[in-house]
Formats: sequence, C-alpha cells, structure tokens
Amino acid sequence: VNERPLSGATSAATVRERVVVPAREGRGLLVSAGSRFRIVDLEGQQAGDLFAFNAHDVSEYASAAHTRVYARTAEEARHCRLFPAVGGVFVTNRREPILHFEEDRSPGQHDMLVPACDAKRYELLGFPGHDSCAENLAHVMAEFGHQSFDLPQPINLFCNFPVHPDGTFTQEILETKPGDFASFRAEMDTLVVLSACPHDVLPVYGPLGPTSMAIEVLEGESAGPTESEQT
Ligand SMILES: [Zn+2]
Repeated sequence: VNERPLSGATSAATVRERVVVPAREGRGLLVSAGSRFRIVDLEGQQAGDLFAFNAHDVSEYASAAHTRVYARTAEEARHCRLFPAVGGVFVTNRREPILHFEEDRSPGQHDMLVPACDAKRYELLGFPGHDSCAENLAHVMAEFGHQSFDLPQPINLFCNFPVHPDGTFTQEILETKPGDFASFRAEMDTLVVLSACPHDVLPVYGPLGPTSMAIEVLEGESAGPTESEQT
C-alpha cells in the first residue's frame, strides 16, 4: 500500500552485523536510533516473536495493542490496523514510535493479536515443560542484565492468522519462503529481541517444524520520512 522508493535501496543494503537465532531459541541485539535492521526467516515458514525495548528504560517497549490504535489526528484514529504494514510505525506502551516498518519481502502476513507463547499455553495444550517465547525472552533479558521486566505483546512476524467476518480468526500454515525478511528502522536506541518460536503443537510451521532465523543490522542510516522530519 505504501511502497516507497526506499524499499529497493533497503534490500540491497550491506549487512553490518548478523545474529543467527537458532530454532526454538531467542537472541537480542542493541540497535541505535536511526539504524536499520531486518528479521530473516532463513528456512521459511517460521514465526518470529519480535520484542523491542527502549534500551535506556526497558519499562518502555513496543506494544502491539498500542500500535493497533496509534493515531496522531482524530481522522487517523478512525482507521486502525489489526496488522502492521510497510510505512507504518510501531509504538511503545507510552505511545512513542520505536520502530518504523521499512520493507517487507515476505507474503506480508504478520500478527499483532496473539501473546507470546508461554509455559501455561503449552500446559493447556497438553505439553507441560515445553520451550516458549516467554522463556526465550527471559533468557535474553537476563543476558542484557534485566531480571525484571514486563512481557510485552509481541509483533508476530510472518504469522498467518487471518481474521474472518464472523469475528473469529484461525492459525494457518505460514507462507514465508527461505530468505524472506522484514526490515525496520529504530526510532530510538532499542534492545531488539527475537524468539524463533518453538511452537510445534499446531502444524503452522510447515513440515520442517521450528527453524532458525536471523537479525541483520544494515549499513547506513535510513533517509525515511520520520527521521528527516526530526533533523
Ligand atoms: Zn512462541
């Protein structure tokens, strides 16, 4: 919908730093304001629970719920989005922009309705003791020195969870291909955490099951509209 010329430039960008997120695990990375990064689905049909915290105050974090209704005018407030789209911003629980969605080289299916999987989720499904995105996040936050933090509602990249006219939604098989990615620009110094979701109870991750992903920080600063407004 909001294809901008920048999209082509972004995909050609050089990767400055790459963190592989092994299947079923989580990894984190500090990204400075104005820097760009992308989340890559290395083998296809894998969901990534993306968390983004204010690097200087982790009580502020990207919130799917606040992003759904983010508006700067009364007119904008009449048109909300259930799911993110290129050109949009993700805001924090304090309604401050934290990520700008720059480019989407995937089927464009992402979810902002479903919380991170956790131990209780799997217990209810009959799999007590199963790995979870909530645990992965806790491990990464501890590595970065944060023992206490809220569990945000994540941005569920590459999830194919369509909403139907009767108000229900379904969890369908993901449609990403190997190497598909989504790119973002950090709007503040951000601790980015990605969990390669270990869910293997529903067959949504295709025949391979949970697979690995990557966080790639890209060379150069973006010339996106939000940043030019600020400078
Ligand atoms: Zn998960």
